[in-house]
Amino acid sequence: MAVNLVTRAQWGATAPRHKDRLKSSAKRVVIHHTAMKNCKSHTESIQELQTIQRVHMQNRHFDDIGYNFLVGQDGTVYEGRGWGVVGAHTKGHNDDSLGIALMGNFNYDSPSSEALMSVTQLFKAGVSQGFLLPQFVLFGHKDLGNTECPGAKLHAALPRLRSAE
Ligand SMILES: [Zn+2]
Repeated sequence: MAVNLVTRAQWGATAPRHKDRLKSSAKRVVIHHTAMKNCKSHTESIQELQTIQRVHMQNRHFDDIGYNFLVGQDGTVYEGRGWGVVGAHTKGHNDDSLGIALMGNFNYDSPSSEALMSVTQLFKAGVSQGFLLPQFVLFGHKDLGNTECPGAKLHAALPRLRSAE
């Protein structure tokens, strides 16, 4: 099954400076939050994606927006680096993982059921297309690094995500 996603072209992404393919199917998924605002409209989300990409490429010197996918609170999925591409989201853990960021700050907000549903659909699509191992392990960023990401409320929802498949 395919996920209905907003492509890079549709949100006006800048071309990556460089792109490395994952050597095999991702073994792990790492969930993040953007720790920025919770976008209320499609126009706002698109501006936010362009801002995130600019910050990642210009301030942090990444080759592209760091995440493989981003998900809005309305459940819309935005293409980041996309499937099968090495991301820049979890230091030391990017070579065998897929990074998905929910847009918002989940230290304070609870993730919407629409957003969580879309993440589950991404898992299914990744497995069915061979980009993700069926037995992949799910992490929150803070399980692998010294960070508050993906926020306490989203982190608490992770077990539900895995069992919803
Ligand atoms: Zn993170």
